[in-house]
Amino acid sequence: MINFGYTSNKDRQIVFDENDRSVYQILQSKEPSVDICIQCGTCSSTCTTGQFTQFSLRQIIVNIHRGEMDFINEDIRKCMFCGKCQLVCPRSVNTRNIIQVLITILN
Ligand code: SF4
Ligand code: SF4
Repeated sequence: MINFGYTSNKDRQIVFDENDRSVYQILQSKEPSVDICIQCGTCSSTCTTGQFTQFSLRQIIVNIHRGEMDFINEDIRKCMFCGKCQLVCPRSVNTRNIIQVLITILN
């Protein structure tokens, strides 16, 4: 078998009814612009931290929306608050505040 240097993700099922989505609801109330994110990934593709790590703001928003909180608390602390994501976001999501609010909620 040819080794292309990457693998596909394992299949997995997401059961929304069983996930705790309370963090997303708090985030929504404190930073409503999270709701207009279209998960385009522009923030992640320009992210300073993302150039050196697996950090992805798009993925963080998706996971919190699903109620999948594994590693979120650890991941958000990698952000350097440079603000590039906010400059390029086509929906003008207040990305830096999303991270700031998450750090406060998860502290
Ligand atoms: S660039 Fe904006 S709309 Fe696109 S994924 Fe990031 S926060 Fe969401
Ligand atoms: S503010 Fe944080 S998430 Fe946004 S581009 Fe900079 S390091 Fe990445």
